[in-house]
Amino acid sequence: MSTRSGPSGQTDRPAIVLVRGDITAQDADVIVNAANSSLLGGGGVDGAIHRKGGPAILDACRTLRAGHYGGGLPTGQAVATTAGNLAARWVVHTVGPVHSTQEDRSALLASCYRESLRVAAALGAETVAFPAISTGIYGWPMGDGARIAVRTVRQEATAPVREVRFVLFDQAAYEIFAEALAADGTTPR
Ligand code: ADP
Repeated sequence: MSTRSGPSGQTDRPAIVLVRGDITAQDADVIVNAANSSLLGGGGVDGAIHRKGGPAILDACRTLRAGHYGGGLPTGQAVATTAGNLAARWVVHTVGPVHSTQEDRSALLASCYRESLRVAAALGAETVAFPAISTGIYGWPMGDGARIAVRTVRQEATAPVREVRFVLFDQAAYEIFAEALAADGTTPR
């Protein structure tokens, strides 16, 4: 199932598409990884990407750790590697914030979407697939995560990106993203 939406009358803005499924099965120029700062793999999306993408992605991450990212990738930032065996040209790794009830880390979550899009656009990517960053192991409530994702992508996605696809693992997440899209005033086209 998928939903395609865009601001009415503004066909030059990238489309926002919702898909229910596994992000590692997506055919897109960029697949975004909900990584951790070590860049050396983990659970959830990260584990699935490394399993299906093969060792070339981990090799590229190790090279990053040996160079500019010796201390790891900071939260809210993004960096690209090969996509290995995935049906994508690049994986863009970004580190979401762990959800906190003591501290508002929303700006860091928005930064993940913004920086991933910036890296994707610099590579010349036209299609970008995102998971719901931070809403798994990092504990972010899906409704708030969806609102931040939709708002940030609507504000930040620009050419050459023409399609941003949110890939939601289950029906509940899909419906929450559909509600966030509707609440954001994005009308189907
Ligand atoms: P984080 O550590 O940033 O919370 P996770 O990978 O644990 O990242 O989860 C992020 C979201 O991605 C969760 O909503 C989770 O259900 C979902 N998810 C897990 N595996 C996949 C997958 N293969 N494809 C798409 N979404 C996934």
